[in-house]
Amino acid sequence: MKTLLNIHAIIPSSRVNGPGARVVVFFQGCGRSCPGCFNPETHSFEEREILSVDEIFERLPDAAVEGLTVSGGEPFAQAEGLALLLKGARARSLSTVVYTGYAIEELNKIEAAREAVKYIDVLVDGPFIEGDKEPTLLARGSSNQRFHFLTDRYTEDDFIMDGKVEVTIKKDGAIVETGFSRVPFRAGFGR
Ligand code: SF4
Repeated sequence: MKTLLNIHAIIPSSRVNGPGARVVVFFQGCGRSCPGCFNPETHSFEEREILSVDEIFERLPDAAVEGLTVSGGEPFAQAEGLALLLKGARARSLSTVVYTGYAIEELNKIEAAREAVKYIDVLVDGPFIEGDKEPTLLARGSSNQRFHFLTDRYTEDDFIMDGKVEVTIKKDGAIVETGFSRVPFRAGFGR
């Protein structure tokens, strides 16, 4: 049976969610309820957009992207599908960056999560802590979150974002923001 993923949104190409141009996939569903979460619309586990891994990769832009960033919501709430998505990215030579509210020590205790971690280049872990805003240009929501460089593909320098926020006006007029804003803006996706 094909594994399907409940997806909040996909940005085909972003330059503020990790190194270079990246396709960004926001998973739907997170039970953590961090106070001040910038993306509360992703918390519900109700079905939003149900896609297979192949259907997600069909949304890759024609122009080359360097990698895949997975955010949420909580990506590891759908660990089996996450592993397949990351495996597919690796097969396409895309680098992989994943943001999670779990600590890596917690993930290492869960078999399905360990399978997904095998295909991650950089894991950014830990819940968002309101009031602990990241004071530097690093691509994380709060300074407690840790960068785990699980391969030698990137270093911390690659996560200093020169353009930190992208704002898009969609065809239906909706305004969405993504990236790591240092000012409150609640119209869209981020972490
Ligand atoms: S910050 Fe991340 S882990 Fe926390 S509630 Fe929001 S989506 Fe979930």
